[in-house]
Amino acid sequence: MNSNNKDIDILIQLMAKLPGLGPRSARRAVLHLIKKRDILLSPLADSLFTVAQTARECVTCGNIGTMDQCDVCSDLRRAIGQICVVEDVSDLWAMERAAVFKGRYHVLGGVLSALDGVGPEELRIPNLVSRVGDENITEVILALNATVDGQTTAHYIADQLEDLGVSVTSLAQGVPIGGELDYLDDGTITAALNARKAV
Ligand SMILES: [Zn+2]
Repeated sequence: MNSNNKDIDILIQLMAKLPGLGPRSARRAVLHLIKKRDILLSPLADSLFTVAQTARECVTCGNIGTMDQCDVCSDLRRAIGQICVVEDVSDLWAMERAAVFKGRYHVLGGVLSALDGVGPEELRIPNLVSRVGDENITEVILALNATVDGQTTAHYIADQLEDLGVSVTSLAQGVPIGGELDYLDDGTITAALNARKAV
């Protein structure tokens, strides 16, 4: 038992599964929420319910939104012939916070990994190849993390796109080894995008 009540215990146990929270922080958070029922707990419950009903993957790019097409894909001004390839939705959101990239995205959902049995089919790479043909794409920018698997994935994608007449570039220096875009400040992301180089 985390509290002396079954319903509150269920809430604490669920909160303790969140990234960065353990049972102790979850107990504190739940107590705080209950004390702030009107200004925090009730709005949070409403918001969780709404997002649970509406959140979905964009059918085109894999971003998370509340419609079949995410806000980026449904914005015609962003059809400028550039696709930025990222590993995860959190990387896409980091790029958007930097507000420097004006094109569209493609979320792979991970990187190739022989060890974990992750192949191209699991990563939406075939979808990327068809988008390049369908959307008049002139440049694919690889914004993958500087891990070994990330770089293996970058080379694999570059090979797949080789015969499609599209320019393939990669974010320049600035992404630290093993670094994730989500942890970079906006200026570093901007510099890495502006100084991108051909793969
Ligand atoms: Zn989208």
